[in-house]
Amino acid sequence: MEKLCVSDVSKIFTGKGGTVTAVDKVSFSVEEGEFVVIVGPSGCGKSTLLNIVGGLESATSGTVTVAGKAVTEPGADRGMVFQGYSLFPWLTVRKNVEFGLKMKGLPAQERTAIADQFIRLVGLSGFENALPDELSGGMKQRTAIARTLANQPEILLMDEPFGALDAQTRVVMQEQLAEISRKTGSTVLFITHDIDEAILLGNRVLIMSRRPGRIKKVIPIDLKCARDHTALIDPEFLHIKKQIMDVLWEEQTV
Ligand code: ADP
Ligand code: MG
Repeated sequence: MEKLCVSDVSKIFTGKGGTVTAVDKVSFSVEEGEFVVIVGPSGCGKSTLLNIVGGLESATSGTVTVAGKAVTEPGADRGMVFQGYSLFPWLTVRKNVEFGLKMKGLPAQERTAIADQFIRLVGLSGFENALPDELSGGMKQRTAIARTLANQPEILLMDEPFGALDAQTRVVMQEQLAEISRKTGSTVLFITHDIDEAILLGNRVLIMSRRPGRIKKVIPIDLKCARDHTALIDPEFLHIKKQIMDVLWEEQTV
């Protein structure tokens, strides 16, 4: 079943300096349970595209549907995770994760049970009562992921969520997210400019061209090796990496 359908979406920004076509006639879909990654050079329109799917930005033309419903505004059917952790600093890990459930009017006991289940899933058991300031960057982002998952959205939209983390923490987070998405069967649209990250996480990688952003090539990722740090030097992994790099290098201008 198709969870997300992006059809002929374009975005033109008009400002004092003229007009910028950020996204140009982009079409793709994401099936239920699929993990789709978009890679592309900086400024190619990745965030603009994700924000249109999230309903934070409107498309100049084209349509987006999530679970068959047209997207016109932000909604609980799409859970967004950004690079900034966007946690409430005055709320504990558990209260942050419970937040959306509280907004939905779930009784306290029920939402604590759900929150604790997702806190366990992201490996933060024991930190339920910690405040965001007491957590490392990776732990903050795991809290943000637990909070988004707890709302049980139709699709998870992630815009370079690990971009602010150091290289090693990043790989740990990638391994964990790969495992979490496998366990939960979540449908994910993930954006990154990191090729390793795209291959480790994606079932399919869409490569965008430099501005105006179009989808230049689609690469299915059918890795037989484990999706963890050991994959990074696996010949199969490196073969796919070269394929993606070749396409991206054509986009490189200095
Ligand atoms: P990416 O996430 O791939 O780095 P963005 O989607 O952020 O790219 O930006 C794509 C292009 O659109 C860039 O040239 C950027 O300057 C432009 N852009 C993004 N947002 C706006 C805006 N609100 N107004 C005008 N131009 C914008
Ligand atoms: Mg961006």
